Amino acid sequence: MAKLINGKEVSAAVKQRVKTETEKIISEKGVTPGLAVIIVGDDPASRVYVNSKKKACAEVGFKSFEYAMPKETKQEELLELVNKLNNDSEVNGILCQLPLPKHINENAVINAISAEKDVDAFHPFNVGKIMIGEFSFLPCTPAGVMELIDSTGTEISGKNCVVIGRSNIVGKPMAMLLLHRSGTVTICHSKTQNLAEICRNADILVAAVGKANFVTADMVKDGAVVIDVGMNRLENGKLCGDVDFENVEKKVSFITPVPGGVGPMTIAMLMQNTLTAAKMQNNI
Ligand code: NAP
Repeated sequence: MAKLINGKEVSAAVKQRVKTETEKIISEKGVTPGLAVIIVGDDPASRVYVNSKKKACAEVGFKSFEYAMPKETKQEELLELVNKLNNDSEVNGILCQLPLPKHINENAVINAISAEKDVDAFHPFNVGKIMIGEFSFLPCTPAGVMELIDSTGTEISGKNCVVIGRSNIVGKPMAMLLLHRSGTVTICHSKTQNLAEICRNADILVAAVGKANFVTADMVKDGAVVIDVGMNRLENGKLCGDVDFENVEKKVSFITPVPGGVGPMTIAMLMQNTLTAAKMQNNI
């Protein structure tokens, strides 16, 4: 039976690290990191995420600024706000909660956020830096996954790592981080042939598909480390991942639960990025 990787515990340790460092820069340098969160419209899931981010800011000692805008907000108005926040020295990180209403071009908004305040690491400048391995900001969810893998003591170098999913926010940066740690990385997607066979070869398997119970026990290698990024809402309202947890956990060495695995890590890494941004902007 697998050991559970406890995302709540690992994320609490990351937040504690951030909190301790924040206390230090407040007392020694008089700098309090600040995160601005923009939410457009009234999507209930987005509201939950924004509230969690504000709560995490309070926990680690950051200032948080919320900008809730109606769903009819014009793209120019949103860009004006981003520009104002880019020039606000109290704001070190800017996050625009996605998805945005359809009439707003998400890329235009992401590109308008100043690269040094882009704590989600979605701006093309930061994406490029991730590619060459010289990044200041970590892509939050993949970076959280790396912390979870490291918490198991698993060596990544030389291992077969399979990432299912190639989105810009999870799959691609996930593959890059594993590659930077010398994993032998395969990225799978909806056109991949022999997916089960490829997955069975994985020492480390990361599922970021968005389909409940997609990864079944016959797709995993005995003793593998399985990280489930998926967050799928079932008809009964229950949250579940991409992995058939009940059957897969009998075969593997480590596995993340959903909820309580990758989810809490994403916010913890956002806090870490905001601290990094505050330090960079104040030459600390
Ligand atoms: P996405 O943009 O929808 O990407 C899904 C990926 O899965 C795509 O690359 C797609 O391939 C691939 N895929 C779909 N069907 C497949 C199949 N039958 N075989 C192989 N690959 C298949 O989703 P995302 O934003 O990366 O998110 C993935 C999941 O992670 C979602 O459940 C999301 O809610 C969750 N998530 C969780 C967190 C967290 O903090 N825990 C953060 C972000 C996302 P194609 O590219 O070929 O279409």
